Formats: sequence, C-alpha cells, structure tokens
Amino acid sequence: MKQFMTSSLLFCLVIIAAMYEKGNSQVWNYRNGEPDGPEKWYVKYPHCGGVMQSPIDIVSSQAIYSPALTSLNFSDYLMSKGDNFTLSNRGGRMVQLVYSGTPIYLLGGGLPTAYKLVQLHFHWGANQYLGSEHYMDGKSFPMEVHLVHRQVQLANFSVAQELPYGLAVVGFFFQMSERNNTKYDQLLKYFHNIVKPDTATEVESFQLTDLLPANLDSMDYYRYFGSLTTPPCYESVIWTVSTSYIPISESQINLFRNLQNENLNNFVNGYRPIQDSNHRIVTTTLQDYPSSASLTHIQLHFLLICVFIVALYIY
Ligand SMILES: [Zn+2]
Repeated sequence: MKQFMTSSLLFCLVIIAAMYEKGNSQVWNYRNGEPDGPEKWYVKYPHCGGVMQSPIDIVSSQAIYSPALTSLNFSDYLMSKGDNFTLSNRGGRMVQLVYSGTPIYLLGGGLPTAYKLVQLHFHWGANQYLGSEHYMDGKSFPMEVHLVHRQVQLANFSVAQELPYGLAVVGFFFQMSERNNTKYDQLLKYFHNIVKPDTATEVESFQLTDLLPANLDSMDYYRYFGSLTTPPCYESVIWTVSTSYIPISESQINLFRNLQNENLNNFVNGYRPIQDSNHRIVTTTLQDYPSSASLTHIQLHFLLICVFIVALYIY
C-alpha cells in the first residue's frame, strides 16, 4: 500500500512538473530589446527564425495579379447570430473572440479547400501611426483584425497550425474615423470585463460580418504564404490581406489601449515587427498595378519612340 502511495505521489509530481513546464513554456512578449522580445523569439521558438515569416510589408507595385483569386465567400459569417462567443484578454498579449457555435466555413478565394473559423483577434498600437502587423507600401495602420481558420478536414487547430496550408487567416486594416463605428459597440460594451490579463467573458452573439467591411463579397485582397505572427511562428498560414478598411474612432480604439498587459500596464503595441519577405511572391485580385513585365513593355515602347525622334532629328 505504501509503495502504491509513493508511486502515485511521484506520478502526480511528474504530471504537475510537466504542467508547470508547459504553462511557462509560452515565454514571449512584444517588447523589443527585452530577452523575450520579438527579435529573440527564435531562441526559444526556432520556427520564428524561418524564411517565410509574417507579417510583411506588402509592396503593391510588386504584387502579381492572379485570376485564380476569386471572391471569398463569407456567407456563413451571417449565421453567427444565436451562437456562442467568448471574449478574452489572453495574458495581456491578445484580445481574442473565440467562436464555438454552428461551424462557419470560409470558401472560395483560391483557397485549396474549405476552412473553418476558430477565432478572431486584434493587434493595435499606442497611437494611430502604428498597431497593424502587416504594412502596405511601407505604411502601417492603427489596428488589424485577424480571422483565423483551420483546414476543415484536419482534426483540430493544434494539428492544423503545424501543417503547410493548415491555416487560412484573413486580415483587415482599421482606419481612424471621426465618428464611432457603432457596429463595434456590441463587442466593445464587454471590454470592461476583460481589463485584467487572463480574464474572459461570454458575449451575446451577433453577426460577425458587422465587425467587417461592407463589401466582403467583392473586396480586393493580397495573398501570400507565411506564418503565425506569434510563437511558435509555424509557417502554415495562407494569408489574405484585404484592401477594404474598417473604420474606428479614437475613443473606441482607446478601449483596447486601456486593457492591461501581464505587468498591469496599458496593453499597447501588441504586434510583431515586419519580417523579411525573402522574395516571396504576393498575388492580388487588383489588376491596376502594372506588373514588372508590362513595365518592361512600357519602357520598350518609350525607347522605340526615343529612337524614332533621334532618327527624325538625324535625317
Ligand atoms: Zn494576429
């Protein structure tokens, strides 16, 4: 009996030690210059030092038009009313809205298969000049929302996040607005419940499309292959970055900034700095930007005209 007790106790201690280890394994923050800051994530999370990391600066003039990028189908997002949402301040590092109702599938958009919505979360800054993760032509935005989906046929998020194309994340930039975006009130009215880190609250459900731009079915976007923007930074994400913005007012974004981080300070600047694109190809639904091939074509025409003028001058 004594031997049984001793071995049971030892077993419990091993489990507790393993849980403690796991609980403390997520050691990272967004503060540049600190040992656990973004430049050092790769030390504990080697994938963060990979060559297909996110976010990136999207250079519109280098993006290549692709007819394969059809409209994204967000129609399932209309069905979220009546289902369950949980809003949480996760360790003072992320504000996340987890969805657990009737499955919502993201379809179309040149995605290889259907992707199921898991959660959406936000990245924001201390002022209106920073906060987004992705940049557009060298410019950042005050906030960015990420809709995180996993491949529907994979067992769960943990499995999907480690496999190439396992996740599809759609990002939208925010733009400062003089007026409140009143559709956000149905989410922001719960923020007083999640001021402290590691707090959560149930949210009365609403149509998730209310949080997104109006023209979802016809929106233009950029597409590239990258990674999770938080450790462990797995390179498993098909990124879609929309060109349609979400308006938000200063007083509304201040509700995000007034949340607390793990040190009980204002939780701001929760974004990863941009990563080297390493010559990754970014495709787009936009046809306006001349590709490098057509630029060469224009340059050739210009050269021919110059030769013609010089020839006229000589003869
Ligand atoms: Zn994110």
